[in-house]
Amino acid sequence: MNGRFWARYAWTGALESGVLIDVAAGRIVSLQAGSAPGDAVVLDGLVIPGLANAHSHAFHRALRGATQLGGGTFWTWRETMYRVAASLTPDQYLELARAVYAEMALAGITCVGEFHYLHHAPGGVAYDDPNAMGEALIEAAAQAGIRITLLDACYLSSGFGAPPDETQLRFSDGSGEAWAERVSGLKEREHARLGAAVHSVRAVPADQLGVVGAWAAQRHAPIHAHVSEQPAENEGCLAAYGVTPTRLLADHGLLGPRTTAVHATHLTPQDIALLGDSATTVCMCPTTERDLADGIGPALEVQAAGSPLSLGSDSQAVIDLFEEARAMELNERLRTRRRGHWTADALLRAATADGHASLGWPEAGTLKVGALADLVTVSLDSVRTASLGSVRTAGLDSVRTAGPPHGLETAVFAATSADVSDVVAGGRVIVRRGVHQLVPDVAGALRQALARLAT
Ligand SMILES: [Zn+2]
Repeated sequence: MNGRFWARYAWTGALESGVLIDVAAGRIVSLQAGSAPGDAVVLDGLVIPGLANAHSHAFHRALRGATQLGGGTFWTWRETMYRVAASLTPDQYLELARAVYAEMALAGITCVGEFHYLHHAPGGVAYDDPNAMGEALIEAAAQAGIRITLLDACYLSSGFGAPPDETQLRFSDGSGEAWAERVSGLKEREHARLGAAVHSVRAVPADQLGVVGAWAAQRHAPIHAHVSEQPAENEGCLAAYGVTPTRLLADHGLLGPRTTAVHATHLTPQDIALLGDSATTVCMCPTTERDLADGIGPALEVQAAGSPLSLGSDSQAVIDLFEEARAMELNERLRTRRRGHWTADALLRAATADGHASLGWPEAGTLKVGALADLVTVSLDSVRTASLGSVRTAGLDSVRTAGPPHGLETAVFAATSADVSDVVAGGRVIVRRGVHQLVPDVAGALRQALARLAT
């Protein structure tokens, strides 16, 4: 896709005004601050790079609201989630994921890391195309105009040697080798890349971990794993293997710069050192972690130890990367009773460049020449974001003045996904003035998809 865009303000690492962005073949070929718009498409607000949702389970969107009745824990929530998982067909999955990814696009997300484990028909019977469910997700992303990294998850056990239960049969390939054989049938496309996932050390026996690691290593593909979201997982792992989940992954060669540990909520100091020393990314999902009463993970400590941070909407309790980003900082404030652990820049880097890198798209997530042209416009004059610095001045003189003094802080700490007005993915306009250009009625699409699940 080719095109020319003009950003009233843009975050290029610094905040700049009047930035003309030329795009050829989906990539940024020039960036010129202090320019007039001319005939460019005007992006009237603060333009940031496309957001990367580094951890998603699309079908969990069906649980929104429904799981807020009553109390319980992660484990009781999971029972409700399994009831939804038990009924989905490939057609329903495509329809639901298309609507969910369109919701993500409206929120400024241009790439999703879909941690996918719902592989087979009920009872564990393979579909005619054994990757029918994964293909539905890849197609859904294409129809919503965003990129996807399909993180195909190996899931073999209901916990430390126990066989899969009735619902979990849909997740299981029976062995690591069978998982690898099935996943090898998937093909990458322009908008879709592949990665591996270890659902968790509960779900993949230690003697199968190496198979998943080898598949990813051979392809230089990302590998993601849920790690220590719950103390019960740590206890089970210690009882079964005598080590923590992080140590178990390390001992099987699964940590490293291509690896992302999701949640990493309940870690020992040794776990933190293992993750940091290996430059394993840690994906925080604060809105899910607080929703499920998981606890607050040691994001500051793992980053100080050497781990990049990424962010994910995970259970889709909400889909709002601004909320994920500030929640990470605000959780730390509550925990430490101190403010200012991360700057707005640093939080946004987790939501953009570092998230994309963790999904195997290192060429995305920045506004610089050569990067994929993913441009997200955040309105700075909505009821949430209007501030002193966002007052517009008439005429072109305004483009030569500095940007709003706290535009980035306002975006990260006060904007919501509803403040995203325009989204460009790979040079293609997929959201214009709040309207999705490929799925015009996203709320309607969600309602329809969810209604089909209920029947
Ligand atoms: Zn998850």
